[in-house]
Amino acid sequence: MPELKTPLDILKVLPQTNCRDCGSPTCMVFAVAVSQGKQTLDACPHLDPEVAGAVSVAANAPSDPIAELQAALGPLQEKIKSLDLEPLAEPLGARFKDGKLLVNCLGRDFSVDAEGRLHSGCHVNGWVASPILNYVVKGGGPEPKGEWVPLRELPGGKDWGRFFEHQCDKRLKKLMDDHTELMENLVDLWAARPAPDSFDSDIAVLIHPLPKLPMLLCYWKPEDGMASEFHVFFDVTAEDNLPVESIYSLGAGLAVMFEKVTQTHTK
Ligand code: SF4
Repeated sequence: MPELKTPLDILKVLPQTNCRDCGSPTCMVFAVAVSQGKQTLDACPHLDPEVAGAVSVAANAPSDPIAELQAALGPLQEKIKSLDLEPLAEPLGARFKDGKLLVNCLGRDFSVDAEGRLHSGCHVNGWVASPILNYVVKGGGPEPKGEWVPLRELPGGKDWGRFFEHQCDKRLKKLMDDHTELMENLVDLWAARPAPDSFDSDIAVLIHPLPKLPMLLCYWKPEDGMASEFHVFFDVTAEDNLPVESIYSLGAGLAVMFEKVTQTHTK
């Protein structure tokens, strides 16, 4: 009986539809939970019983964040190896230099080489690495139209909206409530542009986590007994340039980075 030792081993036997019927947002998250002994394979109702009966999961495989990240990125890197990167530069809004694609993320260049490896001058947050590689593999869609919607109103966003509001909007709202002045730091840190009058918000900035994937961050201060609000909006073309699960990952990753920025500036 084959023994599944790593999250990638487990992912390989899953349907990989990211349907969430097991309660995890993606098959990869489920695979990691199984590898850590927090879930069992039979919690995926779509796993072929013959497959389930033919494998076993190594007990309590140790959690290795680097291995988990590599497992998530491996299939994307395999696809990138088969691509000719130079012609992709223009449709992606990227540049090609020294055999690498330079993809700008929040004012900073990340380079992707022919092996699908990602390089940058800063620490690569795993939540951001996967969206950048997905953008290279699946991007090249239309230019943004400047029409803004919340994630749940994107064509495939209905199921992701609830997770996104929890992982991104609520976390950023708390940071803004506690450190409203930090929004202004984004202008310098993330090459953001003020976007006054957006949805009648008190503070709004436009950021570009990827060249053709702008995000509009809007904050409404508490007023007259009304609680504050924070919402992230996406261009209506967003899913033509990045799969919705990657858009979700990007937003959640930005919330994590914003939290780190806040900790640094409030020490
Ligand atoms: S139920 Fe199965 S196929 Fe659906 S997300 Fe979970 S692991 Fe993936």
